[in-house]
Amino acid sequence: MAPFRLYNTLSRTIEPFAPADGTTVRLYTCGPTVYNPAHLGNFRTFLFEDLMRRALRLRGWQVEQVMNLTDVDDKIIVRAAQQGKTIREITDPVVEGFHADRRYLRIEDAEHYPRATAYIPEMIALVERLVANGVAYQAEDGSVYFAIGKFPAYGRLSRLETREIQSGARVAQDEYAKENAQDFALWKAAKPEDEACGAAWESPWGRGRPGWHLECSAMAMAILGETLDIHAGAVDLIFPHHEDEIAQSEAATGQPFARCWCHGEFLLTDGTKMAKRVGNVQNVADLRANGVSGAAVRHFVFSTHYRKQLNLSAEALEGSIEAVRRLRDFADRLATATGGTAALEEAAEGLETAVRAAMADDLDAPAAVAALFEFVRAANRELDRGGSEAGPLTRAREVFAVVDGVLDLIPEPVQAEADLAAWVEARLAARREARARRDFGTADAIRDELTARGIVIEDAGGTTRWKVG
Ligand code: AMP
Ligand code: ZN
Repeated sequence: MAPFRLYNTLSRTIEPFAPADGTTVRLYTCGPTVYNPAHLGNFRTFLFEDLMRRALRLRGWQVEQVMNLTDVDDKIIVRAAQQGKTIREITDPVVEGFHADRRYLRIEDAEHYPRATAYIPEMIALVERLVANGVAYQAEDGSVYFAIGKFPAYGRLSRLETREIQSGARVAQDEYAKENAQDFALWKAAKPEDEACGAAWESPWGRGRPGWHLECSAMAMAILGETLDIHAGAVDLIFPHHEDEIAQSEAATGQPFARCWCHGEFLLTDGTKMAKRVGNVQNVADLRANGVSGAAVRHFVFSTHYRKQLNLSAEALEGSIEAVRRLRDFADRLATATGGTAALEEAAEGLETAVRAAMADDLDAPAAVAALFEFVRAANRELDRGGSEAGPLTRAREVFAVVDGVLDLIPEPVQAEADLAAWVEARLAARREARARRDFGTADAIRDELTARGIVIEDAGGTTRWKVG
């Protein structure tokens, strides 16, 4: 069997991967900052991590995954101050919404969802170790900083040039650019606004709160141990977040913090990174309210490799809605079929081989999705022939279930109906538009497209009615 391979940002190469203990993959994934609902860009990253855990299990390993909930940080405190609330009042409902969105997208439960505020003692202990090791110091502003000049490996993950490292200069914000590779805050002295919203704790350096980077190191090591098998997030976390996590963890333990660093690319809208501050976000709850199935969103995301940028467009989503509807139809057909042919079994074996190989090849979901649809075409052909053998049919069902366990792209039956309705309405709107601009060629082509899908349309009295014929 070919080795399972993953792209490791640390080496910038695709490497063979196996868990250190041979059985369980200890996976840490940076979770949401819970001050606003996570958008589809955040969820592209969480979907890539969901795919990863399912692919690792397909390979026969167990997975112990931590996804932290960042429930104290700069942005949450600003939000709490604006609304006159405590951080807990801000974060509780957002955490609930996060899990609802996650379930809608069929993202499996991680084994642990630690909240940063529940690990303050572990964070303080980690800072104490760093101070004892001489790599952290308390500055005049009362905050404790990590001295990047004392950690020679600083910049290895993000490939910072040494000349960019400004040791001695300090940055208090959690988010900063590479040009500001400076000593960063581990523990931030409490300000009145922190006290006002419940974001301050006692520490050996006076009242304060953890920096964002410190939170992840402390929670990861408390739950999974000093060396993780895989640490994952989106590419924007490479610097400074993951660079700083490595510095804090390794300067404390002397052990490698993670054996493999995996980063997913961005989701874009019209070519720009989807981000709250750009104002181009697609909320997941809106997709759901519009009747788009979680399965369709998964199909849209998995149709592009996780290390390539992906652009959100209405056409791409519509294509995915239509694609998963075909999967639903096929699943129903496979469930009610009464027999198969030898060629059906052969197609199923081919599918399993292809999907296992694709997943082991740096999580090549697009190749797996393509293999699945190729199988559906071949299997439909064979079912048309109406074979009568039980063995091939059983095998086809088994393999289809295995693949479904990884990609999870089959919408619920009622969802499939809703998807169909949404798709038909969208095509009818396009047809109306075409007619309005007297483009009858396009209008007729859309009607043919609908007819080919078994949709009968009737124009009467200025409105169009449709039904499945
Ligand atoms: P945040 O809630 O901002 O801390 O982000 C949670 C996760 O989503 C992090 O791993 C981010 O890097 C990731 N992320 C943010 N924006 C995008 C985007 N447009 N595409 C993919 N991942 C993103
Ligand atoms: Zn993190």
